[in-house]
Amino acid sequence: MMGKSCASSSNSWNSRLKNTVLCKHNIGAVLKTVKHGEHVGKTFYGCSLWPYNSCGFFQFVDVMTESEDLEKKNDLLEKMKNLKIKNEKLKMVVVELNIEIMKHRKSEKLVIVALLVSLVLFAMFVYSNS
Ligand SMILES: [Zn+2]
Repeated sequence: MMGKSCASSSNSWNSRLKNTVLCKHNIGAVLKTVKHGEHVGKTFYGCSLWPYNSCGFFQFVDVMTESEDLEKKNDLLEKMKNLKIKNEKLKMVVVELNIEIMKHRKSEKLVIVALLVSLVLFAMFVYSNS
């Protein structure tokens, strides 16, 4: 990943960013890739006079942090997906609860209707007997 992206895009980067990133010599820094250590593969700006007359200028290019940001974004997207799935599940639970409540209400209504009917029947029974 590192070697390829460097070779393919370093030219445009150089022409675009030469004026913006200056080393301590106040001349355009050049893009380099870290060859050793824990940051191997990372792109950085270094003094263009290195190694003969280097001022020691060193600055990582944001490209790597951008891809790290992308990873974070993907992580967040993944989390959002999971949250959405959980949300859907919760919605399903709520729907099921609503159905349960409806059932209960229906049976409550049925009980009330049954009570009313029995009351009416009782009243009719009492009325017809008197
Ligand atoms: Zn320099």
